[in-house]
Amino acid sequence: MRKSEVDIGGFRFPIYRCNTLVIGSGAAGLNAAVTLVDKGQADVLIVTDRWGGGTSNNTGSDKQTYYKLSLSGELPDCALDMARDLCQGGSMHGDIALCEAQNSLQAFFHLVSLGVPFPHDRYGAFVGYKTDHDPRQRATSAGPLTSQLMFQALARDVQRKGIPVLNHHQVIALLTKGAGADKQVIGAVALDLDSLETARLGFVLFNAVNVVLATGGPAGIYRASVYPESQLGSTGIALEIGAVAQNLTEWQYGLASTGFRWNVSGSYQQVIPRYISTAQDGSDEQEFLNRYFPSMGTLATAIFLKGYQWPFDPRKVRSYGSSLIDILVYQETVRKGRRVFMDFTRNPSGAGLLEDFRFDSLAEEARGYLERSGALLDTPIQRLAKMNQPAIDLYKSHGIDICKEPLEIAVCAQHNNGGLQGNIWWESNIRHLFPVGEVNGSHGVYRPGGSALNAGQVGSLRAATFIAKRYAEEPPADGLFSQEAGEQVLAKLECARRMLIERSRDSGLRRTARKELQERMSSYGAHIRSSGGVTKAAAEAWEQLERLRTKLGVASPRELPEAFRDLDLCLTHAVYLEAMKEYLAKGGRSRGSYLVLDPAGEPPCPELAEEWRFTLNEQGAFVNEHILEVQLDEAGKAHTRWVPVRPIPREDTWFENVWNEFRRDNIIR
Ligand SMILES: Cc1cc2nc3c(=O)[nH]c(=O)nc-3n(C[C@H](O)[C@H](O)[C@H](O)COP(=O)(O)OP(=O)(O)OC[C@H]3O[C@@H](n4cnc5c(N)ncnc54)[C@H](O)[C@@H]3O)c2cc1C
Repeated sequence: MRKSEVDIGGFRFPIYRCNTLVIGSGAAGLNAAVTLVDKGQADVLIVTDRWGGGTSNNTGSDKQTYYKLSLSGELPDCALDMARDLCQGGSMHGDIALCEAQNSLQAFFHLVSLGVPFPHDRYGAFVGYKTDHDPRQRATSAGPLTSQLMFQALARDVQRKGIPVLNHHQVIALLTKGAGADKQVIGAVALDLDSLETARLGFVLFNAVNVVLATGGPAGIYRASVYPESQLGSTGIALEIGAVAQNLTEWQYGLASTGFRWNVSGSYQQVIPRYISTAQDGSDEQEFLNRYFPSMGTLATAIFLKGYQWPFDPRKVRSYGSSLIDILVYQETVRKGRRVFMDFTRNPSGAGLLEDFRFDSLAEEARGYLERSGALLDTPIQRLAKMNQPAIDLYKSHGIDICKEPLEIAVCAQHNNGGLQGNIWWESNIRHLFPVGEVNGSHGVYRPGGSALNAGQVGSLRAATFIAKRYAEEPPADGLFSQEAGEQVLAKLECARRMLIERSRDSGLRRTARKELQERMSSYGAHIRSSGGVTKAAAEAWEQLERLRTKLGVASPRELPEAFRDLDLCLTHAVYLEAMKEYLAKGGRSRGSYLVLDPAGEPPCPELAEEWRFTLNEQGAFVNEHILEVQLDEAGKAHTRWVPVRPIPREDTWFENVWNEFRRDNIIR
């Protein structure tokens, strides 16, 4: 990496030249960087807005899962079977699934060799357990903070290898040359967050042959979110240059606490807390679930099951299933504007509508579990203390004492299954641009728990392998780079200067912009969707984008980073809503982690009003056999198209033939 300065349009910008620029310092970005060095490409630079920000280093769950081929036990396993299971979730390309399966062990043992403490037995077997949508005990975990341990191990390796890291730099644009299928990324523009008050407004340029985009999921588009506050995402910078995105409709939503963002899965539900809602000021407490369940037994069992049926799933709504609770929480929080809490200090009470809580009214699965855990105790908090004291301590360490106070919750966005598209080397349609980690939407509708972390490691391994082999050249001289990128840089600078000029006209817009788009997504583009709601929300989203592009003002250069983030999130949410609109227009119904309201369908339960009727997609539905892609054209207009799901490839696996191809250098292409 070399740093110098370059003149463009009368401004002098710092410029960094390198073979590969890695944007983002989560587990995926760091793995791309260290693997590039391992494979012989040392000219790598990591640029990140906040070292240690992002999801990997700041989140976790009861038992945070990593998914890979199974390595122990009696169940036989092979990559082809794992690929089939990944594809079972629907709308996942078979070749990508095969790559994720085939490379899962290499990626896993890389982490093991870096010191991530995945548990193994005395004989060296990395034991596993079953996770959702997984028939083979392929899941493993290093504890509640698996992804943080991954981040730490990879960060140590970055340091050991001396890979340069440019911290406090927020990338605001990708630079390209060429058009159509020849369009190619050639670098990026960032704001140096420590030198915004300069004539160049903190602008810094990158002249790179390759860009690995590892900016994580676009978490900032939702108000109700269990992503860490430090993760907002930057998918918009790739959408803006015409990168194709896919499966944007597919997310995972579930119940999480909102004060301290954490999934309330596992034992938090298995101890069967009392659910209450209140008015915004805390008055008018109601046990709001009681009205919708026929008995305390069905209600308490549904709460228990939420423990391991965590993501909202429209298939688990009927017959008083556990996902009915997510609908009722949404009704309270979004439709009625109330607040919802889990109260661990008392058992659910019938409040005159149902009988009070009793263990013998529970389904055998729930009662038996509590009995075997020695947790047939008087109150939820006593049961939780018995089964999982660290679950209580965790909240205490964040200033919330669930032994005394109720825990505020909402149905929150947790993971984006869709995102930017890549080929089998994770290269996007924009050549030399490699989206890896959660910003890359390789997953289908359903995915096994833990496959997100696997996909991030495999994707970054594949990208690094390809770059080191095929794209190892030096970047062009800065003069040539300035000719190719100059206009794009000046257009961004002009955008920043306009926002400074606008400051006196509409500085209020800055304060409300993000809230407006986040409310829109959590109300219309989350786990409850309707054709009318999504269409209206999409129109409002584009209208807001237009408003921000022409009127957004900042009070000083210090506000520019957040203003650029608002623009990015606004564009991103508009494109996501556009995809949701197209899915519904194509006849798509409830699936994955969202329920589509449909007047011709059935009500979730007899006690819910007519407006809640819904239907599931039928077997073999068009939308399940195709993948919805979306792309912006040069004018910024979104275009959607449906492509058939590619099958799992059956390659020639005869050793002599593969070896021949390998020696002829025909593999990494
Ligand atoms: C509560 C929760 C529980 C989860 N549990 C599991 C689980 O059990 N198993 C599983 O497989 N997955 C799980 N996930 C998902 C998984 O943790 C994430 O998908 C994964 O950590 C994302 O890693 P990443 O490297 O792609 O992105 P991140 O770790 O989010 O990193 C993104 C990086 O990009 C940087 N960045 C962003 N924009 C810019 C910009 N413009 N300029 C510069 N830098 C930028 C950020 O600062 C950050 O460093 C969970 C997620 C959550 C929220």
